[in-house]
Amino acid sequence: MTLRRLFFLLVLAFLIACGAAEEGVETTEASGHDTEIDPETLAAQEAKSDGDPCATHGEGDIDGDPLLALVNKHEGGQLKAAYSPADLLPIPPDQMMPGRKGQMRAGALAALEQLTGEALAVEGFDLRARSAYRGFREQCFTFNYWVEQKGVDHADRFSARPGRSQHQLGTTVDLTAESWGWKIEPEVATTVEAAWLAGNAGRFGFALSYPDGAEAITGYGFEPWHYRYIGVDAAAEMEREELILEAYLSRCREGDTKLECSHEPAPEVPVNHHFIGGACESDDACVSLGESARCLTTDHPGGHCTIPCERGCPDRAGNNMLTFCAGEAGAGLCRSQCDHNRFPDAGCREGYACAERERPDKSRRAAVCVPE
Ligand SMILES: [Zn+2]
Repeated sequence: MTLRRLFFLLVLAFLIACGAAEEGVETTEASGHDTEIDPETLAAQEAKSDGDPCATHGEGDIDGDPLLALVNKHEGGQLKAAYSPADLLPIPPDQMMPGRKGQMRAGALAALEQLTGEALAVEGFDLRARSAYRGFREQCFTFNYWVEQKGVDHADRFSARPGRSQHQLGTTVDLTAESWGWKIEPEVATTVEAAWLAGNAGRFGFALSYPDGAEAITGYGFEPWHYRYIGVDAAAEMEREELILEAYLSRCREGDTKLECSHEPAPEVPVNHHFIGGACESDDACVSLGESARCLTTDHPGGHCTIPCERGCPDRAGNNMLTFCAGEAGAGLCRSQCDHNRFPDAGCREGYACAERERPDKSRRAAVCVPE
């Protein structure tokens, strides 16, 4: 039996002893750490709160804008209550697990799109965000919920007090995968997706915040799903120095001269194009597909009718063969598939039908809209 397995069993035994299994809360609770509650529970918690239950938590003085801000459970690790990133953007639906919405800072989101894009194109892993930005008040109601359910000692072990969650930074994301049933729980640590993340997230500027065996330092158990964007150079330095994130950020804050602690600018948000139609020679040929449709010839010598996406259309492998799913152009969304199991509302534009096709990289078949 591995130590991790043993640890998990101990945690499980503890939770069962606490009666955690009886209340029908999300499975994330059993996994335990810095965990969100589902949107309905959160809304109910907020609705029944009198006065300002968040004021009692106090606030810190940390500005969350610097990518290497140290936010933790310890002295001095609390963000200002009013801190909220100015550059939050909605996470495109095909980067979120079904049924959820989320936001991230622009640069972190661009990096997330690169990471999930490569995971899908190269490995065939469908990795998505489960929970990303959480504001001070949302974290407050989340924490208070756990206090009510389990008491304050338990809540402190399993959730962050408001101002002390990395999720308030807008650079942190809990990742999940279709093959995990969209859950986050200790068992996912042994999956190929988790192993790929551990080995590759750093290339995209993401760091694992709460690694295995570091609970005494971080205050959190192993969270193989919780990644924070700190920039490519900083992530590389952290790995080179063989430091965990907590130690790296602490040393950066102390001004350790052996470290560069690079505050590189976040990556540019790529402008992508959603391929909606077939061959074209000029914009005129695309008019029937929508006002904003253009004929793109730069990367596609034959010409393709496209809609330039406002932002964040993940140019995932496979886009080129895809055409159009109804309702997307107007909403500015970029989903290219019409897989009804994953996207119940998806449909195809008139003249197109949903059909299964092999992806260009031959990794799997995908449901896409094709001309009838
Ligand atoms: Zn998290």
